[in-house]
Amino acid sequence: MLDAAFVFSQQSLGDFEACPRRFYLRYIARLAWPASWISGPDAARHQARLRRGALLHRWIERHWLGIPAQAPASQPLPDGDDGAADNLRIWWQRFLDTDFGDLPAQRLPELSLVAALGRRRLLARFDLLAIETAGRAVIVDWKTSASPTLLDTASMRRRLQTRVYLYALATAGAACNGGLPIEPARCHLWYWLANFPEQPWLRIGYSDAEYRADYDRLLALAEDASRRAGEREFPLTDDERHCASCAYRALCRRTGGPAGISFENDEADQSLLEDEAFDPED
Ligand code: SF4
Repeated sequence: MLDAAFVFSQQSLGDFEACPRRFYLRYIARLAWPASWISGPDAARHQARLRRGALLHRWIERHWLGIPAQAPASQPLPDGDDGAADNLRIWWQRFLDTDFGDLPAQRLPELSLVAALGRRRLLARFDLLAIETAGRAVIVDWKTSASPTLLDTASMRRRLQTRVYLYALATAGAACNGGLPIEPARCHLWYWLANFPEQPWLRIGYSDAEYRADYDRLLALAEDASRRAGEREFPLTDDERHCASCAYRALCRRTGGPAGISFENDEADQSLLEDEAFDPED
């Protein structure tokens, strides 16, 4: 069964939702990643994409911390991806050119919150939280994908990341608001889109009704994952499209068709890297 101290995240809940067996293998059996789900030249490009996304996040974090960082232009850049260096510098310039005047004045980069979720805990790690006392609290997430999904407000509103982030802020935001809870109506999530300079923001608000719905959905997922015991109670998904980008597909003897690189694949792999680096007991 799942360890009693296990802390859920958007990634682990997403894994359970997509495929209970993947959740079992990754978080209960703790089976080391047996192979990349992608091979050949695409694998190098995928890794380079992840690295330059991580690099941009690091530069932005240092910017908000006011650290007189080494100039990004002089830092080593990832290779193996067509035009990686150019893209990275274009994104950085777009970031510098963005008007952040709409954001509350207090800016907290790379902030982690752990929120109660029934008997469990739920981790959310924000790229940036901008907050004002008795005013708005805005989570900002930097997106470097070029997927048109990012421009679809309804789709982005439904994303598990959106639901987890807003729920966590409304539940545990008091920790960064002088001990005062942050009501759902004051919570916002803004996605900054590095590849869409003509529409750099996608903004999502929140409400009491959405908060209650998120609690029900996230709790149901967490409790379902927690009450199961043994590999058999974590069946392989019926939707084999999830297998195409799953590291365990050789183990499961699933192909799911040719692996492709998608927005969700990139996001999931980035999120996994972050989860592995985070220890909630630190
Ligand atoms: S390969 Fe498919 S069935 Fe196996 S863990 Fe991955 S998603 Fe689940």
